[in-house]
Amino acid sequence: MEKKKQNNTVVTRFAPSPTGNLHVGSARTALFSFLYARGCGGKFILRIEDTDKERSKKEFEESILASMEWLGFSYDEMYRQSERTEIYKKYLQKLIDSGSAYISKEEVKQEGDRSEVIRFKNPNKTVTFADEIRGEVTFDTTELGDFVIAKDVKNPLYHFVVVVDDLEMGVTHVIRGEDHISNTPRQILIQEAIGAPRPTYAHIPLTLAADRSKLSKRHGAVSVEEYKKMGYLPEALVNFLALLGWNPGNDKEIFSIDELIKEFSLKKMQKGGAMFNFDKLDWVNKQHIARLDTEELFAKIKERLSEEILSLPQYSDERLKTILSVITERISKFADVENMAKEGELSYFFEQPTYEADKLLWKKNPDPLVAKQHLDKVVEFLGSIDADDFTQENVKKAIWDYAGEEGRGDVLWPTRFALCGRDRSPDPLALAEIFGKEETIKRLNFAARSLEDIS
Ligand code: GLU
Repeated sequence: MEKKKQNNTVVTRFAPSPTGNLHVGSARTALFSFLYARGCGGKFILRIEDTDKERSKKEFEESILASMEWLGFSYDEMYRQSERTEIYKKYLQKLIDSGSAYISKEEVKQEGDRSEVIRFKNPNKTVTFADEIRGEVTFDTTELGDFVIAKDVKNPLYHFVVVVDDLEMGVTHVIRGEDHISNTPRQILIQEAIGAPRPTYAHIPLTLAADRSKLSKRHGAVSVEEYKKMGYLPEALVNFLALLGWNPGNDKEIFSIDELIKEFSLKKMQKGGAMFNFDKLDWVNKQHIARLDTEELFAKIKERLSEEILSLPQYSDERLKTILSVITERISKFADVENMAKEGELSYFFEQPTYEADKLLWKKNPDPLVAKQHLDKVVEFLGSIDADDFTQENVKKAIWDYAGEEGRGDVLWPTRFALCGRDRSPDPLALAEIFGKEETIKRLNFAARSLEDIS
């Protein structure tokens, strides 16, 4: 692993506009700024870019803050541009006084109407900057003309406030989405006019959907909030987002956030767009689910169970704890637990299942009397196991030879069906251990009685 340079003068920032919930693509940009700052022992700033009064909403700011917290992106300072008008005013005035900006009268479409804006006096030159990901980038700014930097001194616009803020906040590294690369030359011109140092730029390639277009709603969930609702773990989403466009240069794929902080480097970012692969996310999430301890897993699964399941006669937290691995085998995110319940894959763990008796018959030998005899025999064998030793292994020992002699399907099919009442389920031996001696024998006897009714 390459040794990280400690540089506590590094300052990065994440600058979302509160015009929507936190998009996973933006969360990825925030992640890289966060990892870079934390990895160097520097500072990470959150800046709410709410100069667009019409589109900025308090509820979106709150939702962005909540998503940042959920993801674990702690920041050292937070600012709102709407509270910094006085600072911008000072810099605007300075530019006007030095002749780098001027108030321009605009012709407005309606007759006789005139309004004013503040324009930046473009020196019309070629700007070259070194991008950490893209390499050297050159733009001719002539075609930009004298661009507008404020509606008036109280209403500065995006390019201007970004430059003032990055200067005032001491930002050393601007790590942001590639969609901002064409904004950089304007911002560099403003920096030069106000005498601000040029930060290091790193423009992150965009997050693409499988069809190579920009990831949007029509491809599925886009906000961090939605991923939280679906039951992805924040550490898994962070791990997955980090791997979009970055890899450590070996085949390690599962990282905790602390490991990412140690290993992340801008130098290892890919230049091309990063494909958002939902299957990969599911896989990464499954790996992180496997790292949870029993109590965490139990809590996450229990909160997905409906009142209906929780009030079944045999529901108990203890029983739920014995089936955690049965559930985790079948899910990749916690919302899948709700689907399992809907499909009837959970209720039989907590109540005697009901079913048509002929479902107990093994297809190759559908004789109810034979099936009943097998179940009676299984009950007899299981009766000899001590209730405290009713393990999968002991259950297997007790019935395996008999099943071998009589035919596995003939013996195990009705046994399994009696326990779960479903065509598919985990191994019947595992089910027996989960239910314990008393309940297992009860279910087998129930099945034997229903076979009597159809013989
Ligand atoms: N507020 C801008 C955005 O949400 C980010 C500006 C920047 O990072 O420089 O896209």
